[in-house]
Amino acid sequence: MKNENVIIAGAGPVGMVAALKLAQNGVNVTVLEKGKTFPRDLRASTFHPPTLEMLDELGMTDELIKDGLVAPFWQFRDRTKGPIAVFDLSILSDITPFPFRVQIEQWQLVEKIYAKFTNYSNVNVLFEHQVIGARQDDDIVKVLTWGPEGEKTLEGKFLIASDGADSVIRKSLAIEFEGFTIPEKFWVITTPFHFENHMENLSEINYVSDPSEWLVLLRNKNYWRVLFPMYEDRSDQELMSDIAANTQLQKLLHQDDDYEILHKSIYRVHQRVAARYRHGNIFLAGDAAHINNPLGGMGMNGGIHDAWNLAEKIIISNKTNDTELFDLYERQRKTIAVEYVQKSTERNRKMLMATKASDQVNRNIEWLEIIKNPNKTREYLLESSMFNALKRAREIK
Ligand SMILES: Cc1cc2nc3c(=O)[nH]c(=O)nc-3n(C[C@H](O)[C@H](O)[C@H](O)COP(=O)(O)OP(=O)(O)OC[C@H]3O[C@@H](n4cnc5c(N)ncnc54)[C@H](O)[C@@H]3O)c2cc1C
Repeated sequence: MKNENVIIAGAGPVGMVAALKLAQNGVNVTVLEKGKTFPRDLRASTFHPPTLEMLDELGMTDELIKDGLVAPFWQFRDRTKGPIAVFDLSILSDITPFPFRVQIEQWQLVEKIYAKFTNYSNVNVLFEHQVIGARQDDDIVKVLTWGPEGEKTLEGKFLIASDGADSVIRKSLAIEFEGFTIPEKFWVITTPFHFENHMENLSEINYVSDPSEWLVLLRNKNYWRVLFPMYEDRSDQELMSDIAANTQLQKLLHQDDDYEILHKSIYRVHQRVAARYRHGNIFLAGDAAHINNPLGGMGMNGGIHDAWNLAEKIIISNKTNDTELFDLYERQRKTIAVEYVQKSTERNRKMLMATKASDQVNRNIEWLEIIKNPNKTREYLLESSMFNALKRAREIK
């Protein structure tokens, strides 16, 4: 019998969205996850409106809204002067039922999708199945895994490599991950402190510019996350101490008491896109295909858009046997990663970190010109919420 199974390597947000969409359309899916459980690390936490539209079709958006924070406003802010441009997503209510961002941890989406799988007998998640290689053999994809039961080979018609930035599958296919690593590390400190009661006119998402130390203040339901760049040569071990985190937050806003620190992370940020997204019936998606800085919240959202695009094509191809569609997947999604996500996120970083007074003035003028002109504001929101990226992808034939 012909094998119609889709194997998905990696149960992150990208793999799990692809799995749910395929399962809902009657496709047999096996998800391979190397962990014993789903990772619960604090990573992406912003869901943009078009992503919420997709997740709504899967029956997930109400659940994210219920447990997350609905954020219609976000802003560009100066560290000393306060808000410069405050954007209100509700002006997009004529084109989307979700004119806001939802702030919630990515692992919550993953676990909520997993709970939905009980409704589908055609999807199976295998934990402790670490993918160690994959190859295309005629019209079958073979995936080699390692785990407590030893080595196994699974076979399927398609393989989605959503195994994250260090993708074993991308490496095993010798696909270049082209781009660069940015010089500064990113340091994220999470605290339940109520910044909104102490800093005037904060939005839920605040990109804060400053010539010596820009930052991002992101609110979730029960805490704030503060992201700082770290240019100094300080060890990760030092930065991961509560003392260093408290000192850093005290510089942002002095308090007599120490800050309660819930979580800290420090990581290197890369801007990279895979040279190819397709190798026969093996496809890269999400961080396995592209990585970028988190300024604008486009990494996970762009990855979910890959999952959506690819799953749609697999569903069509299963009915029509059209495999040309998969070259289109690469053309559409790689173009968006290169032309749109990489450029926007780097631009955001450069704007926030501008050190020259003239660059800061020009940037502030640019933001003010956008916010004072309703047409420009709308266009900017369509761009930053990734509506334009999806429109551009649809135009690529
Ligand atoms: C520290 C950190 C902070 C971040 N913060 C933000 C942020 O604030 N905003 C933002 O937009 N983005 C952020 N990102 C990026 C965002 O988390 C990713 O874009 C998103 O997780 C991509 O989803 P994914 O499913 O492609 O990959 P992942 O979420 O990485 O999921 C990959 C999954 O595959 C599994 N896996 C890996 N290798 C194998 C293997 N060989 N076999 C089987 N399973 C495997 C992993 O255990 C994991 O479950 C951050 C990333 C990091 C590392």
